[in-house]
Amino acid sequence: MIEMTKIAASEVPVALRSSYPSHSTSSGTINVPPPTPNRPLNRPAAVPVTASSSVRLPSTNGHTRAVMSALPTEALAPLRANPGRAAVLLDIDGTLAPIVEHAAEARVPDGTRNLLIEVARRYAVVACVSGRRASEARAMVGTGTISYLGFHGAELLRAGWTEAVLDPEVEEWAQRIREFGREADTADLRRCRVRLEDKGAIVAFHWRGAPDEDAARAAIDVLAQRAQATGLRTHWGRKVLEVRPPVRIDKGAGIASFLAGADLDAVLYAGDDFTDLDAFRALGELQAERAIVHVVRVGVSSEEGPPAIVDQADIVVDGTEGVLQMLSALVAG
Ligand SMILES: [Mg+2]
Repeated sequence: MIEMTKIAASEVPVALRSSYPSHSTSSGTINVPPPTPNRPLNRPAAVPVTASSSVRLPSTNGHTRAVMSALPTEALAPLRANPGRAAVLLDIDGTLAPIVEHAAEARVPDGTRNLLIEVARRYAVVACVSGRRASEARAMVGTGTISYLGFHGAELLRAGWTEAVLDPEVEEWAQRIREFGREADTADLRRCRVRLEDKGAIVAFHWRGAPDEDAARAAIDVLAQRAQATGLRTHWGRKVLEVRPPVRIDKGAGIASFLAGADLDAVLYAGDDFTDLDAFRALGELQAERAIVHVVRVGVSSEEGPPAIVDQADIVVDGTEGVLQMLSALVAG
């Protein structure tokens, strides 16, 4: 089902993964796709928008109900009560950084970064979780005092580390995928004007704009069969075939791995998009397993974001401004 949505399940492969090594000696250097999705620039609001939020409180039947116009302070209480045993995890694009037309130009505003540094001083664990590479995420946010989970969580750059570490299982497959790309890059394929894109753990074959698209597609069909025969996963996009590792890579798996072994009472995760729903789900699972007592899923609402990010959230905040307000509330008092 999800592959039919406009955001590219292409960014969200699924399966098993292993945990990270506990040291930072190896460095997984990979190229990763841009964060999901490349959305067009938000139209400016016709009138100034005041950041607002709503809170869902548990109801008697175990479900949640929305309480509109309440400040998130009450929902943040489990974190504020004992910051030394709480984690704050944040998506970047559309959550900390306003969405811009060219993803490469997205930046976290100075005010947000300063607030984030304050949050990092107070809370036990603070991390950003992105579809971008971890090093790119850190450059965007602009502080080395927090951790970064890149490539939807498959890559980890802890606070103070100089280089990111790729999940060892993904790294193993990434090498096989690079090999597959090298072998596929034949004169025949070039004649068809198929364009190869090395995304590190993923290799993509684009045939948009090929002089004979049918011939190019036929050549790519052969590649897809070969990829499947060797145990790799194939994903078809719009005039593109992606060959991917048959392992699970998503923000949920990433944060579960990141938090494994951490002794925490409360975890907050904030995000605005489909890929953040995996993180919401993972927090729910950790709570069900009683690994964490309090989870706070913060949905960042926007015009283009999926309704599910609001539906499945415990708190809803209005865009990056709302996130800023929430970060202030985390360090207030
Ligand atoms: Mg986002």
